Amino acid sequence: CGIVGYIGTEDAKEILLRGLEKLEYRGYDSAGIAVANEEGVHVFKEKGRIAALRDVVDTKVDSTVGIGHTRWATHGVPSRVNAHPHQSETARFTLVHNGVIENYEQLKNDFLATVNMVSDTDTEVIVHLIHHFVTEGESVEEAFSHTLSLLKGSYALALLDKQNSDVVYVGKNKSPLLIGVGNGVNVIASDAMAMLQVTNQFLEIMDKEVVLVERENVTIKTLDGTVMAREPYTAELDA
Ligand code: GLU
Repeated sequence: CGIVGYIGTEDAKEILLRGLEKLEYRGYDSAGIAVANEEGVHVFKEKGRIAALRDVVDTKVDSTVGIGHTRWATHGVPSRVNAHPHQSETARFTLVHNGVIENYEQLKNDFLATVNMVSDTDTEVIVHLIHHFVTEGESVEEAFSHTLSLLKGSYALALLDKQNSDVVYVGKNKSPLLIGVGNGVNVIASDAMAMLQVTNQFLEIMDKEVVLVERENVTIKTLDGTVMAREPYTAELDA
C-alpha cells in the first residue's frame, strides 16, 4: 500500500501512475488516482493491478495536480467502491489514506449521523469529517487539522479540494510519508523511490504535522498551527 501526489506543470496522471508502479512491491489489492483541473476533480479507481487502473484512466483529462493510492484493504473487501480516493458529498473533497482509523465508528456516530456512506472503509469517515467542519465555518486548513486531532490510529493522508486545486493537504501518523521538493513542482510519496522520477530532494514529516503542498511552497505546521522549518535531504537511491 502506498500514496503518491504531484503538483507541478506536467501531466499529473502519468507521473502518479508511474509512481504507483514503483510502490507495487509494497503489496496492494486495488489502486486509484484523482486529478484536478478547472472542471473539478476526476477520480479513476479499479480493483486489481495498476495495469487495470491504467485502462480506466481517461487520457484526455489534462491536469497538473493529483493524488494516487494503492490499497491493502483493512476495512471493507477489495473492490472498486472501496478503493481510494474517497470523496465527500458534492465531491468537494477527495482523499487517499494508508493506515487504520481505530475510532472511525465513534467519529461517524458523533459527527456524521446524517451522512450517507458509499464505501465500507474506515477512510471515508475522514473525508466527510473534513467537509463537515468546513460546512460549520472552518477554513479547509482548520478542518483538516481539526479532523487529524480527532483521529486515533495510523494514517498517511493526501487531500484535494475542488474549490482550490493549487494546494494538496498532507498529514501522517505512524505511517510513512515524504514530501519531494523541486523547482515549481512538489511531490508526495510513501517511499522516495516512487518520485525519484521528479526529484531526489525530500523533506521528512513528523507524526501529527499538517503540510500544505503548493507548486512553489511546502508549509509544515504542527496541529496547533506553529510553522516548522525543515531542510531537505538527498535520497541516495537508484531510480
Ligand atoms: N484502512 C484503509 C482501507 O481499508 C486503508 C488501507 C491501506 O492502508 O491501504 O481502505
